[in-house]
Amino acid sequence: NSDIRLQYQISTFGDQDRLLVARDITRLVRLEQTRQDFVANASHELRTPLTVIRGYLETFLDQELPRPLMRGLNQMQQQARRMESLVTDLLLLSRLEASQHISDEHPILIHALIRQIHEDGEALATERGHRFVLDIDPEYDLLGQENELQSAFSNLVFNAVRYTPDNGTITLRWWADTQGGHFSVTDDGIGIEPMHIPRLTERFYRIDESRSSASGGTGLGLAIVKHVLVRHDGHLSIESVPGEGSTFTCHFPPDMVVPVRRAE
Ligand code: ADP
Repeated sequence: NSDIRLQYQISTFGDQDRLLVARDITRLVRLEQTRQDFVANASHELRTPLTVIRGYLETFLDQELPRPLMRGLNQMQQQARRMESLVTDLLLLSRLEASQHISDEHPILIHALIRQIHEDGEALATERGHRFVLDIDPEYDLLGQENELQSAFSNLVFNAVRYTPDNGTITLRWWADTQGGHFSVTDDGIGIEPMHIPRLTERFYRIDESRSSASGGTGLGLAIVKHVLVRHDGHLSIESVPGEGSTFTCHFPPDMVVPVRRAE
């Protein structure tokens, strides 16, 4: 029966003996599917009422209204925006979870993508006085899903901007070696205690709840990064020293790295 899902594990004892254990995970797989469908549907359904609320708020905010009322409406608008980001990230995450691998690989020009991310980051960071440094290997490109990589990379840059005190330095690097291709974001910000690092890619895991939500994140950024990388057969590594800064590196397998094609 094709609906039954089994998980196999083989153990070897000495030279000859093998033990094969088959586990029926059909129920687990179904439950996980139900959970994913629920999150996707709920996020989708929340979109419409939010759009209506935001529309009315914008109309009201265009009027001359008493100051306390304006203050309340501004707060409502801020929270409605936050909810919209949450719904967008939840939907994105449920789409990413729906399959384990990117559907079709388009060769993307990672240089152009990093430049775009760099520009967006600078626009976001001007008020904070952050300085950006770019260090890009000119010889190699990456095969991958552009929209997904854009989401993953910009989440890392967004975090670097938010978790670095004013006038920080943020470095974006792309390089390739025998292990594959690597994109990293380094900041000289607040850093992370080692005990938190293994849990950072869990949904809604936050070190400092008040600081994180006040700075505009959804708590889903690193979960999105992790899933995008899994879908590219890659992984995320995190190095950090509290009080000195952090480096988040996206690693991609060698077969996705290609030489840059130059115009003849
Ligand atoms: P959030 O929206 O809360 O930033 P993320 O999933 O993007 O959610 O990040 C999870 C947590 O990891 C954050 O709440 C923050 O505590 C920590 N974090 C992420 N990036 C950095 C960074 N560059 N420096 C320090 N802490 C970070």
